[in-house]
Amino acid sequence: MRSPFDGSEVGRLQRPSLHTVEQAIAGAAAVFPKTRRIPTFERAAILRKIADTLRVRNESLARTLAREAGKPIKAARTEAERAVATFLSAASEVERRAGDVLPLDVNEASLGRWGVLRRVPVGPVCAITPFNFPLNLCAHKVAPAIAVGAPIVHKPASQTPLSALALAEIVHEAGWPAEAYVVLPVTGEAGEKIALDPRLPIVSFTGSAEVGWRLKGLAPKKRVWLELGGNAAAIVHSDADVASAAARCAAGGFGYAGQSCIALQRTLVHRPVFAAFRDAFVAATRKLTSGDPLDDSTDVGPMISTADADRIESWLEEAVAQGAELLCGGKRTGNVIEPMVLVNTKREMRVECEEVFGPIVTLSPYDTFAEALQRANDSRFGLQAGLFTQDIDRIQQAFDTLEVGGLIVNDVPTWRADRMPYGGVKDSGVGREGPAYAMDEYTEPRLLVFKS
Ligand code: NAP
Repeated sequence: MRSPFDGSEVGRLQRPSLHTVEQAIAGAAAVFPKTRRIPTFERAAILRKIADTLRVRNESLARTLAREAGKPIKAARTEAERAVATFLSAASEVERRAGDVLPLDVNEASLGRWGVLRRVPVGPVCAITPFNFPLNLCAHKVAPAIAVGAPIVHKPASQTPLSALALAEIVHEAGWPAEAYVVLPVTGEAGEKIALDPRLPIVSFTGSAEVGWRLKGLAPKKRVWLELGGNAAAIVHSDADVASAAARCAAGGFGYAGQSCIALQRTLVHRPVFAAFRDAFVAATRKLTSGDPLDDSTDVGPMISTADADRIESWLEEAVAQGAELLCGGKRTGNVIEPMVLVNTKREMRVECEEVFGPIVTLSPYDTFAEALQRANDSRFGLQAGLFTQDIDRIQQAFDTLEVGGLIVNDVPTWRADRMPYGGVKDSGVGREGPAYAMDEYTEPRLLVFKS
């Protein structure tokens, strides 16, 4: 593997053979009867121990993230810290969980009957993860699986397997059986075969809409949970604090070069404050430092590959040729492209209607709040949206109208806490992550009925 920043070698790995893949799936299926019976206190202790080690190894994990994913080291440290929170949240959820007691004597025929409803793990989980959060997104698959007692067979992104392998080492050291978490750095094609294997009844996929929906179509009988992409919008109304909204929008649009599924892409700004916001936003964007991910001052690192840097350049050229105006940025050095702000864009342009997944943010004025909501919804995606306003009625109207998994008020759509329910609607996916919610996705209800 090579660094997306300077092409230097970051590690060498051999792709697992078909035999290794078969052994991993068979091993996960064989160990499931054991893991599902690991008692609550042991599962919680394992999760806490993993969190402790992640905390201790923060710097080395952050450096791995910076090298293999090109993530700026400041953001990489934050990602490693967030993984701690993800495991701790799963640990407290394991201890808190209870089932339901159901009075069933609702008519004479069922006198003396009552029930207990508890959730049981469905089976081993196939986890597939993308390159952009190579540690914390793995944590979001692994922590809830351990919490419910399910083994995991994990295919990480080809560009970023090292963080997943480091996590596996930590998970095994904490006492989770080796066969119950196996990382297989195979190709996408081989990943598809793993996902379709009937011994892994749950598929938890995070990545592009294209691959995710293909998998769901190929496996109609499986539980396929999809965390996919988006072209997130933020609405900045005239009653908002424009300066602070502009600073947050620059961070939300350009952190990790916009390579986040909830990166701000489309900014809709109330016309009376459009010029003030535009100027503050361009100024905040110009303050960002682009360059070497291992440098402490870097905010914006490289695109993950030369092909992606080329794609961003061609989408920019296409938009400009169709009438868009570039207000700042666009200078390319290797795979690093300085953050770009575009105005005069049209809804048909790829920088508007597709997922950019790169350092481009568009600004468009709107006249009425209803128009802003309609334009935010004018997308095949629906992950999160941001809304900057002080008006409770507008907040309620937006919450009622926006077709998204989450609405973030007075901040960017890019904001996420690891314990919250997180996921999308429309092409952005199905299901929710956040340990408590993923634990529901990995389990099914089982009912016991008593007759006294
Ligand atoms: P991707 O190309 O879809 O890859 C994601 C994972 O799927 C990788 O491990 C990839 O392996 C694997 N894969 C590729 N083809 C496959 C197939 N046919 N069957 C099974 N697995 C296959 O996405 P990416 O470029 O890594 O990540 C960017 C995307 O992820 C963006 O769309 C972003 O919005 C989305 N994302 C969503 C969330 C969320 O929580 N909603 C979070 C982060 C990212 P290889 O690497 O070997 O190709």
